[in-house]
Amino acid sequence: MDEGVQKYKSTKSILLQLKDIPVRAEKDDGPEEVACVSNELKRDMGKDTMHLVSYQGEFLKPCPGTKEYICCGYQILNVGTNCPLDCSYCILQTYFNRPNLRVHVNLEEQLGQVFQTIDSDPDKIFRVGTGEFTDSLALDPIIRWSETILRGFSERKNTVLELKTKTANTAGLLGSKYRDRIIVSWSLNSPFISCREEHGAVSLTRRLECARECQSEGFTIGFHFDPIIQHSNWMDEYRKTVDLMDKYIEPEGIIWMSLGSFRFMPALKPIIRRRHPETSILDGEFVLGLDGKMRYFKPIRMELYAFLNELLHQWHPDLGLYLCMESNEVWQESMGWRPETSEGLGNYLDERVRNFFG
Ligand code: SF4
Repeated sequence: MDEGVQKYKSTKSILLQLKDIPVRAEKDDGPEEVACVSNELKRDMGKDTMHLVSYQGEFLKPCPGTKEYICCGYQILNVGTNCPLDCSYCILQTYFNRPNLRVHVNLEEQLGQVFQTIDSDPDKIFRVGTGEFTDSLALDPIIRWSETILRGFSERKNTVLELKTKTANTAGLLGSKYRDRIIVSWSLNSPFISCREEHGAVSLTRRLECARECQSEGFTIGFHFDPIIQHSNWMDEYRKTVDLMDKYIEPEGIIWMSLGSFRFMPALKPIIRRRHPETSILDGEFVLGLDGKMRYFKPIRMELYAFLNELLHQWHPDLGLYLCMESNEVWQESMGWRPETSEGLGNYLDERVRNFFG
């Protein structure tokens, strides 16, 4: 942990839980930067070490998104970086310049500032999530974010908090009395991709069991098919996942569901090859997109989205489906409508929030 973080409530509670684990205090190693790192760090991301940090940057910031495609205007609550799971496709493998599971232990003390920002713009809907730079619940049994952050979001009328996960760590949430305006989301994939590529994640069935429990306990839920990956029998495989959803979930309680096809910065490719030599996710044909990321050829992306759009529509006609980082042309061809601009997509999702929570 960084020197000086012992004073935070969160540090004390974490250390109490990890009392048999060796702890070392060290000098602050400077701010986290979004950058490519040495090959050595990329190979070993320090997922077995937790680093307690007093984070000096902005806790609430817009999702980096991309100017070249339509984005949803999401805000990230930056609770920490890196993740104990190890999905082969994870973009975090190239994203940060520091290893280890970095936990921002001064979060609780900085929440006032976050809510000041939210309160200063009462007409805007802040769609906030913690699952962009880490899994929202993977470390919750130790860090107990669910005890710290739910209340402030639950009590405000112009925000929602989305916790996105591939784990079954919902005990903290279920023990909380705050449910209003809290969205619990699971990332889903085909059974084939889930088993082979999402190392450390629980099975799809387990994710859906947890989603059902959260739904029956009064939480609003969401799902994300991202990254959708083209692989052998992909249609049958994704159909199995939607069949499982039908078995476990009441579709009326789903606020939204995003679809995003596999995309990556070119620098990620050698890292995936090195860290996950058995992977098959790089087998497709990719082209360089306008945002500098590699993605499937447009016709392939359209086919993936159109297939899932139709399949999910057959299950339920109003699931709040949207595409992550795509063009109007791809939207129109695969979804049958287009938001025109990022603002248009933001308005569509804001309307979902109003319909669900008032
Ligand atoms: S769960 Fe998300 S953040 Fe964690 S390794 Fe997988 S893709 Fe990365």
